[in-house]
Amino acid sequence: MSSQKGNASRTRPQKHQNMTAFKNNKYGANAQQKKVNEKVHDGVCQHCKDVLEWKVKYNKYKPLTQPRKCVKCMQKSVKDAYHVMCKPCALKLELCAKCGKKEDIVVPLTTPDEETATTDQASKQGRTKTKEDEDAEDFDDFDELNSDCDLSDDGLG
Ligand SMILES: [Zn+2]
Ligand SMILES: [Zn+2]
Repeated sequence: MSSQKGNASRTRPQKHQNMTAFKNNKYGANAQQKKVNEKVHDGVCQHCKDVLEWKVKYNKYKPLTQPRKCVKCMQKSVKDAYHVMCKPCALKLELCAKCGKKEDIVVPLTTPDEETATTDQASKQGRTKTKEDEDAEDFDDFDELNSDCDLSDDGLG
């Protein structure tokens, strides 16, 4: 007879596990959504940055499918959605690239050259299969080959 009453040590999973902040990638983000989420809103004022971040957060941010016309240089060089001028113009004129006003820029624009180099090289130097590994695998099969030989011996009797 057991004196144990049920399983006292049983642990239940937390009832409310998703008490974290709202996440727009809750149902699986696609590649574009992920890119948008990681986007840095540089070259814009605090107000515009807030607006852009809000749009991203609530899935209202629609990236440009093709470059827009810059209000300053009239070139189709605006690559960021909701921006009125291209980055070179915003950088040169020290204006917010989104609203076009002379505001304090939150994240200063950087030229593409200054972007950090990718660390692909490091990951490419991962472990590769060596000759020794292949030899070891062959050795594992050795037992099976032996048993085949035993069976064929029987046939001779
Ligand atoms: Zn421009
Ligand atoms: Zn602005």
